[in-house]
Amino acid sequence: MRWSGGQGGNGAGVQDAMSEDSRARPERGRSGWPPPWPDITDRAVLAAIAAVPRHRFVPPQHQERAYDDAPLPIGLGQTISQPYIVALMTQALRLSPTSRVLEIGTGSGYQSAVLASITPHVWSVATLAELAGAARERLHGLGYPVEVTSGDGRLGWPEHAPYDGIIVTAAAPDVPPALVAQLTDGGRLVIPVGETTWNQTLWLIKKTAGRLAREFLCEVRFVPLIATASRSVEAEDPALADIQRQLRALFGR
Ligand code: SAH
Repeated sequence: MRWSGGQGGNGAGVQDAMSEDSRARPERGRSGWPPPWPDITDRAVLAAIAAVPRHRFVPPQHQERAYDDAPLPIGLGQTISQPYIVALMTQALRLSPTSRVLEIGTGSGYQSAVLASITPHVWSVATLAELAGAARERLHGLGYPVEVTSGDGRLGWPEHAPYDGIIVTAAAPDVPPALVAQLTDGGRLVIPVGETTWNQTLWLIKKTAGRLAREFLCEVRFVPLIATASRSVEAEDPALADIQRQLRALFGR
């Protein structure tokens, strides 16, 4: 079991990660970074992990641990994911510099920055405007051209669809059909699925000619994907019914 997300809640505000104190600190422990991960072989992914300054996404009180291969609390109940899981999920998307990618669960913006190191076409959805604003400011300050919005990521971001890759960094009890609908033909969705923190599986879902297939990646722990929108997209869009049916068949529920 790998601890990938998890509840933060150390009381620190998200803004702390961008404090002057944090900016002024030297990078620590980056020699030998990333650590050797036998199953991460995509050079672009390894180069992205090596290039992104993780300490700029971590609050001052956790600077010493910025280059530990572990998740960390970033305040307001948010976490920055474990680098190995970021690498694994990014690798599963098989991105090229022309890929269009949507991330659900912006958090610190670290995963967005890793994606943006591979392709300039990255969109990310956070739950709250405050969180989206903080992540946007941080990402743009570091030169990553990621577009960030706030809303219920279960609905995706239809305005910029379709996406070659969609990455969900919070765990859902069921795969949101709107996300599958927003994939290109040949598109890939990486998502942790599970009812509780202790029972989550990271899946790769591939869409080919309208047909879905899933591939097991590993067991994980992420914070929950919260339902903030009350409307049901399935009821509004009958085209999602087929996707819903296929997902039920794939996941047996
Ligand atoms: N990718 C982040 C880690 C994300 S932690 C990083 O690299 O730092 C999971 C995030 O998902 C949290 O910030 C949480 O607020 C967000 N989240 C939960 N439910 C969501 C939803 N329905 N839509 C968008 N984001 C959501």
